[in-house]
Amino acid sequence: MSTMFVEPEERVALRESVARLAGKYGHEYVEKQAREGGKMTEMWLEMGRSGFLGVNIAEEHGGGGGGMADLAAVLEESAAAGAPLLMMVVSPAICGSIISRCGTPEQKERWLPGIADGTHLMAFGITEADAGSNSHNITTAATRDGDHYVLSGQKTYISGVDEAQSVLVVARMKDAASGKLRPALFVVPTDAPGFTKQVIPMAWQAPEKQFTLFLDEVRVPATSLVGDPHSEDGGMWQLFAGLNPERIMGAAFSCGMARFALGKAVAYAKERSVWRDAPIGAHQGIAHPLAKVKIELEQARLLWQKAAALYDAGDDFGAGEYANMAKYAGGEIACNATDVAVHTHGGNGLTQEYGLANMLIAARLGRIAPVSREMILNFVAMHTLGLPKSY
Ligand SMILES: Cc1cc2nc3c(=O)[nH]c(=O)nc-3n(C[C@H](O)[C@H](O)[C@H](O)COP(=O)(O)OP(=O)(O)OC[C@H]3O[C@@H](n4cnc5c(N)ncnc54)[C@H](O)[C@@H]3O)c2cc1C
Repeated sequence: MSTMFVEPEERVALRESVARLAGKYGHEYVEKQAREGGKMTEMWLEMGRSGFLGVNIAEEHGGGGGGMADLAAVLEESAAAGAPLLMMVVSPAICGSIISRCGTPEQKERWLPGIADGTHLMAFGITEADAGSNSHNITTAATRDGDHYVLSGQKTYISGVDEAQSVLVVARMKDAASGKLRPALFVVPTDAPGFTKQVIPMAWQAPEKQFTLFLDEVRVPATSLVGDPHSEDGGMWQLFAGLNPERIMGAAFSCGMARFALGKAVAYAKERSVWRDAPIGAHQGIAHPLAKVKIELEQARLLWQKAAALYDAGDDFGAGEYANMAKYAGGEIACNATDVAVHTHGGNGLTQEYGLANMLIAARLGRIAPVSREMILNFVAMHTLGLPKSY
């Protein structure tokens, strides 16, 4: 059978090892950390020491030498165990991929080993309040000053800045020849003078916090610029090197969360009985929505596995199309699965004790970030179906 439909033995074994480690922590650990203002650090570092955070990074830089399909499997398993590591989407997937593909040998040497073992957490900042989904409109500016760059601007909804040692910031820089503004990526230490952050109070109870960032003439050495903003494609490729991994990981995160919610709901439907001696799962009104979730979950998983296989094969264009579709399907199934799981639990679904109500919000994230459902529909309508651009 084609390996497209059956994962290689090593990935199956990787999944089992991650499930065991993440299962030791589980949903209770996440809820406790969120409630008490704690972090996922203990689990994060154990995952790093075990080689799971860096599976996609080259062996010569301290990683496992695997691909995005391996990293996404790790995230799906940790989410399915009830303990998703949100920062995996950002640090090893976006930042690790961009530095691996576009960084200089010195930059790889400097940052990849720490990203791989989890001791250097790198956040990623592109979103700005006034640009939103239209990232062509970002205004954070970088200007050259001798052997430094000076960055000024604001970012919003940047995850995990309080835990991060640095942020890969997407700025814009003027091309000397054409005068055009081009995206340029800089690794900015979180303790740099002029770099400040403000927490955004979110309704979602999670150990990972979201921040608004202020960059007030932050000076970074010229060696902090990752990739070449003057390349032929206007500096876009180093950005895209990170965006497909981000979408694949978003999809895997959502699928893992859906697996967790479905597992809880099925267990409850088998054991809860309120009519005669039959469990509520004997009623089709309960069983069919659960079966539907299972089918749609497997569809979404196939999509991210295909997107990851294309990415790992070096087909960035094909990966882009499938990573978008996978992210869409993931967001939908995470929302549907958590909704059905809450409903299966009746009133218990809305209690803190059962831990499902907070997941309704977490699942909703998959429809909004890193790219919204509508922007994916725009992409598929235009690029896959050849319809006119609508925005
Ligand atoms: C919990 C969380 C974590 C995040 N982490 C990060 C991070 O680490 N780094 C980072 O850079 N960003 C991060 N983000 C930001 C995220 O990527 C953005 O929220 C997302 O891109 C949407 O942008 P926006 O919120 O400004 O929505 P807007 O762009 O204001 O969109 C609002 C609504 O309008 C719709 N819309 C907009 N344009 C169109 C159109 N042309 N056609 C149809 N509908 C449209 C959208 O789909 C959406 O429903 C995070 C966000 C959240 C909520």
